[in-house]
This record gives sequence, C-alpha cells and structure tokens, in this order.
Amino acid sequence: MNNLVINTSKIAETGPLRGAVERYASASIDDIARRQDLAVSYEITAIENALLLRGSIRGTLTMNCARCLDGFEFPVELSFVQTYPAGTETVDVGEEARQQLVLSMPAMPVCAESCKGLCPVCGKKIDGALCCRRDETQPDDIRWEQLRKLLKKR
Ligand SMILES: [Zn+2]
Ligand SMILES: [Zn+2]
Repeated sequence: MNNLVINTSKIAETGPLRGAVERYASASIDDIARRQDLAVSYEITAIENALLLRGSIRGTLTMNCARCLDGFEFPVELSFVQTYPAGTETVDVGEEARQQLVLSMPAMPVCAESCKGLCPVCGKKIDGALCCRRDETQPDDIRWEQLRKLLKKR
C-alpha cells in the first residue's frame, strides 16, 4: 500500500517532513507496466508563503515491447518539485509521484530502438537480419542479378 498522503498541518512546528516508501505501485500504469519495482522518497519544507515538495522515484518497470511483445526492464530515475499554498493541510505525495510517472512513460515502449518486431511471415521475433523475408526476396534477386551478368558476358 502507498501511504503517501502527508499531514502538513503542523509543519511550521515540526520542520521539514521526510519519508520514503520502498514499494510504490501506481494503479494507473498497471496496464502499461506488468511489474513495478519503484521506491519513492520525499521532503516537504515550509518556505515563504508556500510548501515545497521535493520528491524522487527510482527503480524499474517491467513492460512489454510494443513491437516484439517481449518483456523488458525500463529504468526509472525521476525527481520532481511541486509547491502548495501555505496552510495546505495535506500533501498527496503518491498522487504527485503518479503524475510524474505517467508523464515520463513512453507512449510506445520498445525493448530497444533497433527492435524490428515480429516477422510478418513466421511470427517470430526478428533477430538481426530480416528473418524469412530476406531469404525469399533479396538474396534471390542478387543471385539472379549475378546470373544475368554472367549470361550477358557470353
Ligand atoms: Zn522489442
Ligand atoms: Zn520469419
């Protein structure tokens, strides 16, 4: 559970509020990340006419590649700053972290920029060369080309 709603009503007396959760999980990214291994830490201080929240999120998300559908680990290292009007009684650090996390998520998560996805012919992940498509077209074309050259020479 994320107990990250912080009571800031007495911050003038208590001074800066600091804390951390080792297992932060946001329900709003459940459909994008199949595993969340995130830690959130925060510090709330009272500054002139405002409260200042400084937070950070660190860890890894396990996501499925949008091209090849393989699972891969996506490192997360975010820090954020937010201000609230003086007199704010509660600060929802978890919600702030959630928004930051959603903003940082790629719209199309890919395991690697070079990922070529799945082969349209055999359905397997294309690894390096263009899988079976290459065997069917390109090398044949080159072979025919060489044959034509040989025929011309005669
Ligand atoms: Zn991929
Ligand atoms: Zn193939």
